[in-house]
Amino acid sequence: MSRNSNLSIFSGIHISLLPFNAVNSWTGRSGPGDSTPLSVRLHSTVNPLVENLVKLQSVELERSRVTLANRALPAEIAQAEANLNKAQAEAAALSDSLSREETLRSRLERDITQHRQRAQRLRTQRDSITTPAQLEALEHELTFADGEIDRLETEELASMERTEAHEAGLAQARAHVEIMAGALEKTRDRVAIRQKELAKDSAALQTERDTVRAVIEPDWLNRFDRLFASRGSAISRADRQQCTICSMGIRPQTWNQVREGELLSCDSCGRMLYWDPAMVPAKEPEAVPARNAAAPAIPKPRRVTG
Ligand SMILES: [Zn+2]
Repeated sequence: MSRNSNLSIFSGIHISLLPFNAVNSWTGRSGPGDSTPLSVRLHSTVNPLVENLVKLQSVELERSRVTLANRALPAEIAQAEANLNKAQAEAAALSDSLSREETLRSRLERDITQHRQRAQRLRTQRDSITTPAQLEALEHELTFADGEIDRLETEELASMERTEAHEAGLAQARAHVEIMAGALEKTRDRVAIRQKELAKDSAALQTERDTVRAVIEPDWLNRFDRLFASRGSAISRADRQQCTICSMGIRPQTWNQVREGELLSCDSCGRMLYWDPAMVPAKEPEAVPARNAAAPAIPKPRRVTG
């Protein structure tokens, strides 16, 4: 049982490792140096300090990511709340407009009634008029009253058309409010779940951080912390004679030393430079065009001659 689980660990890891390490692991599994967790082992020639610093950096970067993600969550709720508030404000504005139209129409109705009553009175008075001047004055008032009735009725009709449009708009706005309220609820739930996940991640990262920091010497930790605080990262992989973070070239002498496993500073950005042999692009497979060959059941190490 334990043999099986060991095998699965080994097969999972050694695919990308050099044969030297693979052989070591197969033969010296119970050897004295095996207290280091296999999962952080990059390559037999990689300086354990480099491994630990690289690991620490990935933990620190992940912690930053978790912190940022956590900090962004309240904004998602705030946005959903703002969306709901906006929808509610739109519905409220339409509702106000409807009330205003109703008030307006009540006033119009009142005025129309008054003008009608006045016209009615004038028509009754017309029978008892004795002079042309009086008749002319009365006709003038009557024309005015009828004109006002027409005008106010037209205004009332326009108000009713606006009400119809507002009612349709209000129905839509209320439906939109429902949707936004639902969205806010969902956002709150999602954020709560995410916050829990992030808290869990954060706790796991804290443990990992403590563990890796415990095995790094204080001087290196200080150097790492200073660089990380000022530059956002402290250690950079050297590749193709370049610092992969600042992309500046590395002097040949430094390049050679770095490839031998030394930790040197990048002349340009000051970060610690390391070399990871496992990341070197393998040239051999390109030279061997044996694509039609059947894949072996167990992956073999790539660079047997390396
Ligand atoms: Zn650099």
